[in-house]
Amino acid sequence: MNFHFSKEQEALRDRVVAFCAAHCPTEGEARRDRHPAYPAELHQAMATAGILGHCLPAAYDGGGGGTVDLCVINEEVARHSTSASNILFVNGICGALIGLAGSEEQKQRYVRGIAGGGVRFAFALTEPGAGSDAAAIQLGAVRDTDGYLLNGTKLYTTGAADADFILTAARTATEGKASRGTSLLIVPRQSAGLTITPLDKIAGNDVASCRIEYRDVRVARDACLGGENQGWSFLMLGGGLERLTVAASCVGLARAAFEEALAYVNTREQFGQPVARFQAIQHQLADMATRIEAMRLLTYSAAWKIAQGLPAIKEVSMAKVFAAEGVNEIVMNGMRLLGAKAYLNETPMQRRMRESLLALYAGGTCEIQRNVIARSLGL
Ligand SMILES: Cc1cc2nc3c(=O)[nH]c(=O)nc-3n(C[C@H](O)[C@H](O)[C@H](O)COP(=O)(O)OP(=O)(O)OC[C@H]3O[C@@H](n4cnc5c(N)ncnc54)[C@H](O)[C@@H]3O)c2cc1C
Repeated sequence: MNFHFSKEQEALRDRVVAFCAAHCPTEGEARRDRHPAYPAELHQAMATAGILGHCLPAAYDGGGGGTVDLCVINEEVARHSTSASNILFVNGICGALIGLAGSEEQKQRYVRGIAGGGVRFAFALTEPGAGSDAAAIQLGAVRDTDGYLLNGTKLYTTGAADADFILTAARTATEGKASRGTSLLIVPRQSAGLTITPLDKIAGNDVASCRIEYRDVRVARDACLGGENQGWSFLMLGGGLERLTVAASCVGLARAAFEEALAYVNTREQFGQPVARFQAIQHQLADMATRIEAMRLLTYSAAWKIAQGLPAIKEVSMAKVFAAEGVNEIVMNGMRLLGAKAYLNETPMQRRMRESLLALYAGGTCEIQRNVIARSLGL
């Protein structure tokens, strides 16, 4: 057994840490939290530094990185910047799906575009009536002479308002199971008939999550990714990558909260000494550090299993649910350790608390992860 990262993975981590130190200052995060606007410069800088494309296929300007690299990048990015984390998340999933399912022409255009930063994507699966039950999607794509006509509504599509394309899951066969009648369609954001409305979130409004109305939106036949009615299996693969990515991001965000709390208790003095000297405080920090270590181990062992080609559906869900609940617990502890200071908007902890809540839903809720784990136990 070997729990060490390779030299290349260590170098990758150093590169991402250096990038974040240069491009993701805490003040920038706080500014975007208060005055949200799409961080286009940060997006382009991530592409130029090879971070956005690192886990996309090397044949299309990506770095060819695997699932462990994916976790290394997402952990470090989330430790510094939720804006960067959200950009990486949606573009990474879309790029991975196009890399897996796309035609040569689609890969040349879109995977290269995502890696280079010139093409931005958003991923639209969830609908008003289809959240955890993704198979209930209703948005329809009807074949006509030279393409598809789309009608329906998507909800929470992150990055849609500033994307060039929206990778849209649609029913192309209305009869029968969604698993046999779902297609993935690449819809240009500027398409006639598309209305995109940003939703007012409690955090992360710079990368807006949107409601999208599709009214007679026409796309060409070659907008279909991976074949008509073949989208479901790719959605399942994408879902696994999403969960792993969320788990790694939780580790990074939890570390940020832990570091903020540790620094504070070492400097804040009460009763004539730093509060870090009180054993009650030390125990809280010991528990937080232990939880983070366990979150990391579950996440990276799931990533390692996937990289070895081993089945890891259960392990990915275990990592995701443990990390999502873990980061929320750790940030809430951070709120306590900072005392009243945590309650002020000038302190990053309160932003981290709002940001950490997303992990409870993104990539599927904790209840859904437990359902997956229970199923794998034969229940
Ligand atoms: C900020 C944000 C960004 C998002 N970005 C995107 C995006 O870019 N693209 C996209 O497609 N989606 C996105 N989503 C949607 C996200 O994937 C969904 O929120 C998630 O799948 C859960 O769906 P829901 O919110 O409709 O909850 P629901 O499915 O309505 O669930 C409500 C509650 O019931 C529970 N529940 C539901 N079914 C079961 C069950 N079978 N067993 C036990 N409990 C159950 C849930 O766990 C939850 O507690 C985003 C969401 C948020 C908040």
